[in-house]
Amino acid sequence: MNRRSFIRAGLAAAGTLFAVGSGENSGSDVGEKDATRWAFLADTHIPADVDNNYRGFYPYRNFQKVIPDIVSSSPDGVLIAGDLARLTGELGDYVNLRNLLSPLAEKAPVVMALGNHDNRENFRKTFDKTSGEKQAVSGKHVVVINKGPIRLIILDSLFYTDKVPGLLGKEQRQWLENHLKECDNTPAILCFHHTLEDGDDDLLDVLRLFGMIESIQKVKAIVYGHSHEYAFSQYKGIHLINLPAVGFNFSDTEPVGWVEARLSSQGGDFTLHAAGGNRDGDGRVTRLTWR
Ligand SMILES: [Zn+2]
Repeated sequence: MNRRSFIRAGLAAAGTLFAVGSGENSGSDVGEKDATRWAFLADTHIPADVDNNYRGFYPYRNFQKVIPDIVSSSPDGVLIAGDLARLTGELGDYVNLRNLLSPLAEKAPVVMALGNHDNRENFRKTFDKTSGEKQAVSGKHVVVINKGPIRLIILDSLFYTDKVPGLLGKEQRQWLENHLKECDNTPAILCFHHTLEDGDDDLLDVLRLFGMIESIQKVKAIVYGHSHEYAFSQYKGIHLINLPAVGFNFSDTEPVGWVEARLSSQGGDFTLHAAGGNRDGDGRVTRLTWR
């Protein structure tokens, strides 16, 4: 069994509970004060040209459409898991993203990972201040942010702008290993852009990452984008949460939108907010229990 089918097979054993609900509290028994609520987004693909479109989707307008929805959910934080920019990480892409984010950024910290369609220098020029604690990993954008019972570790899998595969690299993996060794036992969620299979278009050092974290019990989940698909699976009890894209899908069967995550020390409830594409799963809550 190759890794792809191994991970897919993990779906059946994931212990996820699917419930149809209309929103906030459906299917949840996590108390407010013991939880943190995050808006999880990926693949916004914001263009400099607001009329830029692909497969009938207008990424700029899609993001504009979901922002009021996110603001009204009053999240404790907002995460975007990479491919912030349309294709090549132009300055104008990030300027538009920054402007679109401003109603959110006034109310909650916004943390962002970089994807294969981002440009690190242009990103840094536009977002000179970052929420959370910026970490010293040379040439990489790495941030740690603690909220309530959860530590989010934002890693950088951008390897080469506008080429598909991703790489964390030795220095960043070493930093992560040290960080995880030294930090307390707060449940940690890793976040970066690339998918966790072993193909040429995925995270190229996924096996080394898995090998390092599988025995570190405080690592509970990995949140990522890249595939423009919404899916849950797991690896050795670590939940793998593939976020849908905001900008556009690659397949009509996939939603376009964002995920409201209510995270506790025991697990999380993930509610899909489908704004376009396949909206059949809109409002669906997936409940995960941490290992
Ligand atoms: Zn993408």
